[in-house]
Amino acid sequence: MTDIPSSLRASLTESDFCLYTTEEVAVQSDSDGTIKLLLRLFDENVVECVLLHDKSDGLTACLSSQSGCAMGCRFCRTGTLKLKRSLTVNEICEQFLLLQSRAPGKIDHVVFMGMGEPFANIENVLSAIDFLHNEDGIGLSMRRITISTCGVVPGIKELTLRRVPVKLAVSLVSADDTTRSSLMPINKAYNLSTLKAALKDFQSVSGRRFTFEYCMIHGVNISDQDAFKLASFCKGLTVVVNLIPFNPCPELEFVTPSMEEINHFCRKLDELNVPYTIRISRGRGIKGACGQLAGKVNG
Ligand code: SF4
Repeated sequence: MTDIPSSLRASLTESDFCLYTTEEVAVQSDSDGTIKLLLRLFDENVVECVLLHDKSDGLTACLSSQSGCAMGCRFCRTGTLKLKRSLTVNEICEQFLLLQSRAPGKIDHVVFMGMGEPFANIENVLSAIDFLHNEDGIGLSMRRITISTCGVVPGIKELTLRRVPVKLAVSLVSADDTTRSSLMPINKAYNLSTLKAALKDFQSVSGRRFTFEYCMIHGVNISDQDAFKLASFCKGLTVVVNLIPFNPCPELEFVTPSMEEINHFCRKLDELNVPYTIRISRGRGIKGACGQLAGKVNG
């Protein structure tokens, strides 16, 4: 490169620069087009990110915000790891770039649904979103970026205050305080009424519909009573419920509901006029589906 000063050329030749601080240690591909990368960080911690290929949504990068997670949701494999540490901005952005280098086309959606709770690392996540959105970075529309939280109310309030126009997904899992607290320790700090108040404020400012993620677990949260409670919790909010049948993991005690149970719960939601979708889990074969990330190769 003769168009840069010779002193800089000399410095680049002599110095030990590295463009990426993360290193790919394993790549797994599933028959449905899902690709999962296991990355080693500079301090030997590991993190996973996933490329999802969906006919309707195109290519989605599912990024991690932390190595491990402190939130301890009982239906999530990452929750069994405990928190190692939060990721830096570049460690988050590198996940996107590494997935893009393996993608068959341009990645058009980003979801922060990988390892970690994004609002527990909010500044770095928002800086990474700047890079993803900025024209000098990736140039993704904010409408194509989703933050998914387990219900960290201060994070929702911060998003509301800063008017960051990303999409929001909340892992609800149950609209009953006792059940939710038993599955998600965060509910003891911010119960359902506190969560709903924060979501109402978010919606009044953003004007945006958001999503409730509802991990369906056999014998736990899919009774008729659970459907009634969910319908009641959704009242006053413009929301769509994303039903995700529990993805089995050897470390977790829960059971995936049968198709009959799933259909029955859906019929109840139809009767109660609750808008919902069902997420066909991609990447199950390589443990890259929702709740299955554990920072391991072949397992
Ligand atoms: S669901 Fe999200 S917040 Fe809960 S333990 Fe798993 S990664 Fe952490």
